[in-house]
Parts: sequence; C-alpha cells; structure tokens
Amino acid sequence: MDEASFAQELQNQLKFWQEALFLRDWTVELRIVRQWDMSDTGTLAQCEWYLQRRDAIIKVLHPDDLPGIQHRFLNGEECDYDVSIVHELLHLHFAPFHTTEDETSHEQAINAISRGMVKVWRAETSTPATVLEKPHGKHGYL
Ligand SMILES: [Zn+2]
Repeated sequence: MDEASFAQELQNQLKFWQEALFLRDWTVELRIVRQWDMSDTGTLAQCEWYLQRRDAIIKVLHPDDLPGIQHRFLNGEECDYDVSIVHELLHLHFAPFHTTEDETSHEQAINAISRGMVKVWRAETSTPATVLEKPHGKHGYL
C-alpha cells in the first residue's frame, strides 16, 4: 500500500466505523500528521471533540514517525491504525461521561472495546490491517 492508498484506506475506515458506530451525526475530520503536530508524543492517534457542535478532529501519526516512539508504546494502546480510529471514534460516545478523575479506566474500557471490535471485524471479513509499505519493500510498521 503506497502513501496515497494508505491515506485513502484510513478515510475509508473512518467512514465505515462512523456508520457502524452510529456516529453519522458527527462531522469527523481525519488528518495524518507528523509527530510535532501531536500534543501527546506517546500515542498513535488523538482526538479533539466539540460535543455541542458534534465536530471532531482525529489526528493519526504519520508512519514515518512510528519508529521513534515505538519503544515506549503506548499507554496500553496498540500500534494499529484501524484500532486507533475505532478508539478515537468511541471517545465521541463517551465524551458526555468524560472526567479527568478516572481517565485510566476510561481509556482501558475504550481500548478493550476497540480491539475487540476490530478483531471480530477482521475475522469476519478477512481484512488485513491498514499499513503503509515503504518503497524498498519493508512492510509497514506493525
Ligand atoms: Zn483514548
């Protein structure tokens, strides 16, 4: 998968999961960004949401920046773009219950649900993980 197909596939994933999770009433923009555009340096994706407007921006880290952070991955999250998209979308459902007091259990619940959903979906559809292959033939970064 080259860079353009990778970006397109992430958009497809966003669209698919937004439908599947009944989040059609949200306007969600997905951006592939470099490390310096992320506010948290230990994560593959992050989400900013505006609950009243039902707007969200999901930022995912460009694969070129993965090797630098992989060794300290990841607050229990996986280096898996599809899981990350589902994870960030689930935050939109949980946004009304979001507190800063118990973020860990909140994150753990979202991690478990997103992993489980993608696992079942891959098993049912035999869809491989979305990865960017580099031109010299090295497969992705997963
Ligand atoms: Zn999260």
